[in-house]
Amino acid sequence: MRRTVFNEDHEAFRETLRAFIEAEVVPVYDEWFAEGIVPREFYYKLAELGLFGINVPEEYGGAGLETHKFEAVQYEETARAGVTFGGSGVHVLLALPYIKMLATEEQKRRYLPKFVSGEEMWAIAMTEPGTGSDLAGMKTTAKLSEDGTHYVLNGAKTFITGGVHADRVIVCARTSPPTAEDRRHGISLFAVDTKSEGYTVGRKLDKLGLRTSDTAELSFVDVKVPVEDLLGEENQGFYYLGKNLPSERWGIAYGAYAQAKAAIRFTKQYVQERTVFGKPVAHFQNTKFELAACQAEVDAAEAVADRALEALDAGELTPAEAASAKLFCTEVAHRVIDRCLQLHGGYGYMNEYPIARLYADNRVNRIYGGTSEIMKTIIAKDMGL
Ligand SMILES: Cc1cc2nc3c(=O)[nH]c(=O)nc-3n(C[C@H](O)[C@H](O)[C@H](O)COP(=O)(O)OP(=O)(O)OC[C@H]3O[C@@H](n4cnc5c(N)ncnc54)[C@H](O)[C@@H]3O)c2cc1C
Repeated sequence: MRRTVFNEDHEAFRETLRAFIEAEVVPVYDEWFAEGIVPREFYYKLAELGLFGINVPEEYGGAGLETHKFEAVQYEETARAGVTFGGSGVHVLLALPYIKMLATEEQKRRYLPKFVSGEEMWAIAMTEPGTGSDLAGMKTTAKLSEDGTHYVLNGAKTFITGGVHADRVIVCARTSPPTAEDRRHGISLFAVDTKSEGYTVGRKLDKLGLRTSDTAELSFVDVKVPVEDLLGEENQGFYYLGKNLPSERWGIAYGAYAQAKAAIRFTKQYVQERTVFGKPVAHFQNTKFELAACQAEVDAAEAVADRALEALDAGELTPAEAASAKLFCTEVAHRVIDRCLQLHGGYGYMNEYPIARLYADNRVNRIYGGTSEIMKTIIAKDMGL
């Protein structure tokens, strides 16, 4: 089916990005994979390419656009090449919407130019060892000092993408206890400088997939956060999270669809080259049927992902629609990548083959940003159930 989401500018960007990935990422990707992290300097290259400033207003050094289409191209092109850009995805997809929505003029002038140049990489810390799906149960606290100049932050976060390299992290913390009527009341957001005293990056976590993304534990012991780094209003954090989760979920949906599409590309090539019983694997009817079924699923996921992209750009993507797109695209990707791996035989289980890495990388899409089960609860609630 003809796609209508991308214009000439997006296609020109795609060409530039494809060449960049070939030159700057593919040759060193095995090293990054073995190290389990992308070098910090690489983020300056992404900044030079303009990736961090696309949606930042011009007065703060960005391109002044309001669109997620360039991010969509990035998801397709990284998946196509079987690589990732480490933990940098959260910088633009997750953190930027909060800065744009909540930061005061003074904060924007302080944060955004360094955001665009890659001098300050951002991450977001919601999840805690004791609470993930049930965010209202978070225990990290931020107490206003008596002189009213700063908050004192105490607690711990886990699974924080970009947590090792981050220079500033949006930390969700309790500034007031929950009320009897509303467990979600009392959470606030802070743009915490990771160089602050008492802020510690713990283990870089050893993951099944997404090996190049730095996922970390963080701990806060009496960290002084200046009141100037409170984002938005005190105690309104849960409401802000609710506003921004649809764009995060769209990003995961789009990334998953792009991985499934890439899986078919790798597999089509593999089954034509690999010979068994004197014939290419592609010769068997089972191979053709499997890939045809996968293609039909990816076509449907592409339509959903593209439509969600248009809705997001128009400011119309509802929480339930985002949940539905995430649920569908990530479940399709799970099925498709598994079937594609099967067609590789034992080689599909080897990390030197991109399908193996895609399989491991894709698994988390049904978990982070809210699990598939949580997506179902959101959709069911929207259905009035
Ligand atoms: C690689 C990776 C990167 C991540 N990056 C970040 C990040 O940058 N920032 C951040 O804040 N967090 C991040 N996370 C955390 C992620 O969002 C959470 O892991 C996720 O929300 C699930 O929370 P949990 O792990 O505590 O699982 P739990 O909440 O303990 O869930 C366990 C199981 O219970 C199910 N369950 C929970 N509630 C319900 C319910 N109401 N009905 C039915 N079933 C339910 C879940 O679906 C799941 O199957 C990351 C996680 C991973 C693995």
